[in-house]
Amino acid sequence: MRKTILVVLGIIAMALVWTKGASAGEHKLNVVTANSAYASIAEAIGGDKVTVVNIVAGNQDPHIVRPKPSLAVELRRADVYVTTGMDLEMWSPALVDMSGNPNIRSGQKGYVSASAGLKIIETPITVSRAEGDVHIYGNPHIHTSPLNGKIIAENICVGLKRNAPEYSAFFEQNLARFKNDIDRRTFGAKLVALLGGKTLTDLAQSGRLVAFLEKKQYKGKALIESLGGWMKEALPLRGRKIVAYHKNISYFSQLFGFEIVDYLEPKPGIPPTPGHIAAVMAKMRAQKIRVMWAENYFDVATVRRVADKVGAIPVIVALAPGGQPGMRTFFDQFDVWIRELNRAFSDADQRAGAAAKPASAQHP
Ligand SMILES: [Zn+2]
Repeated sequence: MRKTILVVLGIIAMALVWTKGASAGEHKLNVVTANSAYASIAEAIGGDKVTVVNIVAGNQDPHIVRPKPSLAVELRRADVYVTTGMDLEMWSPALVDMSGNPNIRSGQKGYVSASAGLKIIETPITVSRAEGDVHIYGNPHIHTSPLNGKIIAENICVGLKRNAPEYSAFFEQNLARFKNDIDRRTFGAKLVALLGGKTLTDLAQSGRLVAFLEKKQYKGKALIESLGGWMKEALPLRGRKIVAYHKNISYFSQLFGFEIVDYLEPKPGIPPTPGHIAAVMAKMRAQKIRVMWAENYFDVATVRRVADKVGAIPVIVALAPGGQPGMRTFFDQFDVWIRELNRAFSDADQRAGAAAKPASAQHP
């Protein structure tokens, strides 16, 4: 018994020495992120010079966070706080107040707005919360496009450099690598080598990429044959239609060219009503919408019930990294989303094909 106690004390003493040793001389930045996609990007840029604590998990609604004292404690310790900088985190100002940390207030040294310089879509003509809308400055779910990830990463890099200028070169090196990774994973290495990430990003952001690649040739072959990455994997999604729960993935759908014709929520943040659900179901039947999309923190039972009634296939996924198995990083989320949508459309087509037999093979 006495020997066990001695061994335990010895281990504790060793742990204390080790912890002290590890932190001696190392200036690590404490980074707090509002969202797990920002956490994944901050880790990629900050590497071993940062410790990242995240607030909203990948399977939680980013609009709704209870300002717990433990979160205020994390923010009190934060050197850098990364938040969207729109109205996504309406819970954030109260939490920053609770933290008593003046450095992470909007506009201060430790504050990073992930959306700075980003082209925001779905900006309303009039700014009003009269009907409960939670997207009054446009769509705040900016992490759902890989190309937005490059700008988010630039913003985070600026914030890290401002608070640890001694590591500026390190952060910038990581940023360049991260942006190259995004280009390669979005367009494929071959096309990036031919046209460069900037040109490809501009074409994709303006919705002209696929038409351009189909028209232009390189060494006698259409450029589209050199397309790789997520853009290629998502080609079968182009022009397809789905119904979603909340306006979460507008950046994603715009980039990959599929349409979200309606939402189970009558407005972002307003829960579905029986009347609205009935109207959406009628639309799905009329337009033959066969795939639905909902994040795993919503009322999934209702999604499945609606899908069942109209013969659609529900895609239930996490909104951000860490929200489901196999979705650990910012990159993983696009792998998962594209794979699941392709699978759903393939199943839906098979089902529709089986139902239509033996009708002639007409194109819809
Ligand atoms: Zn939202």
